Formats: sequence, C-alpha cells, structure tokens
Amino acid sequence: MKYHFTYLMALMLIFTGYSQNNNQQVLVENSKVKPKLVVGIVVDQMRYDYLTRFYDKYSDGGFKRMMNDGYDCKNNHYNFIPTFTAPGHASIYTGTTPKYHGIIGNNWYDKVEKKSVYCVNDDSFNPVGTEDKYSFVSPRRMLVTTVTDQLKLHTQQQSKVIGIAMKDRGAVLPAGHSANAAYWFVGKDEGNWVSSDYYMTELPKWAQDFNTSDAVEKYLKTWNTLYDINTYTESGPDLNNFEKGFKGKETATFPYDLKKLSKDNGNFDILKETPFGNSITTDFVLAAMKGEQLGKDDVTDFLTISYSSPDYIGHNFGVDAKEIQDTYLRLDLDIERLLNYFDAEVGVGNYTVFLTADHAAVHVPAFLESLKIPSGYFDNKTFKAQLDAFLIKKYAAADLVEDIGNFQIFLDRNRIAQLNLNLQEVQQSIVDEIIAYDFIERAYSAHTMHNTSFNGGIESLLQNGYHQKRSGDVLVSFNAAVISYSRKGTTHGSGYLYDTHVPLLFFGKGIKTGSTFQKTDIIDIAPTISALLGISFPNASTRVPLEFVLD
Ligand SMILES: [Zn+2]
Repeated sequence: MKYHFTYLMALMLIFTGYSQNNNQQVLVENSKVKPKLVVGIVVDQMRYDYLTRFYDKYSDGGFKRMMNDGYDCKNNHYNFIPTFTAPGHASIYTGTTPKYHGIIGNNWYDKVEKKSVYCVNDDSFNPVGTEDKYSFVSPRRMLVTTVTDQLKLHTQQQSKVIGIAMKDRGAVLPAGHSANAAYWFVGKDEGNWVSSDYYMTELPKWAQDFNTSDAVEKYLKTWNTLYDINTYTESGPDLNNFEKGFKGKETATFPYDLKKLSKDNGNFDILKETPFGNSITTDFVLAAMKGEQLGKDDVTDFLTISYSSPDYIGHNFGVDAKEIQDTYLRLDLDIERLLNYFDAEVGVGNYTVFLTADHAAVHVPAFLESLKIPSGYFDNKTFKAQLDAFLIKKYAAADLVEDIGNFQIFLDRNRIAQLNLNLQEVQQSIVDEIIAYDFIERAYSAHTMHNTSFNGGIESLLQNGYHQKRSGDVLVSFNAAVISYSRKGTTHGSGYLYDTHVPLLFFGKGIKTGSTFQKTDIIDIAPTISALLGISFPNASTRVPLEFVLD
C-alpha cells in the first residue's frame, strides 16, 4: 500500500513537472515574439522625485500605470558630467558616455574648427518645411551607433525609426544615424514641425496636414492650473522671489494669457515654455503613429519621444513652482493618452515603453539660501578675469585661454607651443590656482584624465564625460548647489545627485512587474532594450542589460 502511494506521488510529480515544463516552453516561445513597437520617452529635466512628490495627484493611467504595472528603477543616475540635454539623450540611446559617443555638451568649443559648435548642427544638410536658419541639422557629431541604429541593421532596414521632440537635439540624437525621420518644432512666426534633408526631401503629407491645421495655434490660450490651485499642496506659493516668468507680465503667477504674451515671448516659441508644448508633441506623435502606421506589422518599429517643455519651464520657474506641478499633472494625462492609443492601435502586450530623463535639476539656489542650505552662484566674468590675471603674472601671456564652457577650460595650444611652454605644466598650474577660488570644489587637468583611471566619485563622472579629442584642458566641478545662472529659475549640469537622479520606468512586452533601489545607470538602458529585442548592442556600449527587469 505504502509503495503504491509513493508510486502515485512520483507519477503525479512527474506529471506536474512535465506540465510545468510545457508551460515554460510556451512562455519562452511567446517571449521570442518581438514587440511590434518600442517607445522611448525622455522627459527633459525630470527629477526622480517628481514621480513620488506628485504621486497622489496622478491619474491611474499615466506615470502610475508604468510604475505599478511595469518595472520602476528608483535609483537610476547619470554617470558623467556634464548633465545636459544632448549628452543625456546620446547616452540613453548609445549605452555609453561622452567619453565614447563624443557629444560632450549642447554646444562646445571645437579645437580643430576653432569655434563653438552645436551638437546637431551640420551645414551640409538643408531644413525641410521651414525657413528657420538654425535648422541645418544631422546626427553626425555623434560618433557611435544607437540602439535605434542597431535595430535598423538587425532588420535589414525594415524597421521604421522616428524621433520626435520640440528640441532638434532631443529628436535627432535618439533616432540615430539611420532613422527614417526626426521632427522638431520651430516656434517663432511659424509654429511648425520640421525636419532635415538628411532624412527626406519634403515633409510627408500627414505632417504637412498637421502644420496647416490649427493643431498648434489652438493652444495659444490661457494657461491656468488644471485643478484648483489650492489643492497644489506639493509645491510652493505661486508668488515668490525665485521665478523668472514671462516678459510682459509683472508676476510669475497664474493665469497666463498666452495669446497676449506671445508677442513679447517669441510668438509660437512661448508654447514651448508651457505644458501645452507636451500636448502639441503628443498630438504630433499620434499623427505620426497613424501617418506612418507604426507598430502595425511584425517588424519592430521604434519611436523616440522627448518632451522638451518641462526643461524650459524648470529653467524659468524652478523645481518647487506651481507651474512645475501643473506641468507634471498635465504631462501625466498626455502619457495616459499615449498609452491608451498604443493599447488600441498596437494592442495591449504588443509594445514596450521606457521612460527616463536627460538630466534633472537643482532647487533654485537663492531659495536654498533662504533655508540656510549651502548653495551659491558662480560668476563666470569674475572667474575669467581672475584666471587671465594669473596667466599674465605667471606666463606674461594674456591670450592662453581660448574658451571656457561646460565646466572646462580650453587652452590655445598653438600659443603655448609658440611660447615654448609645457602644456602639461600650464594645465597643472591652472588647477593649482583655481582650486583656491570661491565655489570651485575640484579641478583636474586633461593630463590627469589621460593617466589616471578613476573608479568613483565626481572625478570618475568627469572622466566618463571627458572625450580625449574633443574635451578641454582643465575640468572643474563646483560646490554642491552652486550654479552659474540668474538668481531666478534654475539649471543643471553637475554630477551631484539633484542633477543625476532621474526616473527609469520600463513597461509592456517583455518587462517584469517590480521595482528596485539597486543603483542603475542611464547607460544601462540601451543594452537592456537591445537584449529585449535580441539585437546587437550599440557599438560602443559599455554596460550589460538589466536582467532583472526582463521577463
Ligand atoms: Zn536645460
């Protein structure tokens, strides 16, 4: 009898085991089916704590849906300096830092061309759909491939890749070198979505139709808070001393009559500085989804979206403003609108989304000062004057500094050679001099960057942001909460946590439900998405996939 029982048990176990294996096999097979669409969402200047601070006021279908049904990496950071828009976007999609992808700033001093260059400016290509003299654009200063390029290579160019953002750099860098299109917004008198002949000779009909409709103009209306302003208890008083506001309005307080204010604030450009910029971006994204039939066949398409407006609004009003709270409550509804559209048109479970930011931002230092928290303002003019005086005294030369920008000093190497000076020595003498200046916390020479391998701290962030060919001769880091900016509004760029800590949410096909406080870096995203798609990693990617988020 006993024997019989055990025998039955064994049979049952074998049977259960067998059926479990069978289920597993079905799961594995399902997970091999690629998502029809991958969507990368970057929110320009979104701090991690905007997810938690405004959590109770968010709808169930936007940020919260991604946080609760997807995977929430709560301790995700930039691992390089400077934390600016162009290096941020390039790093998300290349899976490496400026050290390798070469996008060392939004603008930087080009040592060969001997002039300041813009990250996506390229005079060999012409604007499409605009008369704007700044829209000569390509991704060619980015030196390596993106995850979007790798998808194109993997599918013999059958995948469609489209980048959309109000800022050209937010559209062009994520879409990569081989994209079908990148679109950005020209405000001014135009109010149109435009592109470059790097991608196309004319705008597709759906984009032309969008531009000729009243889709943009209808947002030149009054910006008031979405809900009763008295319920916005997660932000400071509307009237305070730390916000810039708009030209033509005395106080930075609600409501804002945008039609009236547009005349003094760049016409359609004013929309970029309001949450309606996010809605216009969402409207255009949905028009692109429909016009290009993205996610409609079995070849994976990739849509990159960057919401630029939160950055303009953050610079203007700061981290604690009612305007910021309103922007995120409204963006939440735009995200919900996007997800609902993907559910309906691509299908629940057929698409994958990730959401992150290109950098975060510091509290307005003048506000921190009022709370006795260490902070301050670095004055570039005084710095330049002090440095010049030192170089004249030490080397009897007033013209050794060619440029100062992105926390780097560029020296005139020809002049140094002419004067028979030793470059390394000049670099080090500047480091030793400026470390005594107010608000300069650390300084390193390019020589040190070449000859030391840093494994942690601010110095390793500087090293990850240092490109041997493009970067300057001396690298500087300020004290915490010190910025070079006006006393109203705020900025970003440092390696402190207020600038590096950004959201990272994965959601949809192939993604587990869960969350972690384990530290992740921004450059982990591209290899993770590559792994999900079963494609090669971007060619200079310096990380491995976040296995724990993948199903
Ligand atoms: Zn910014």
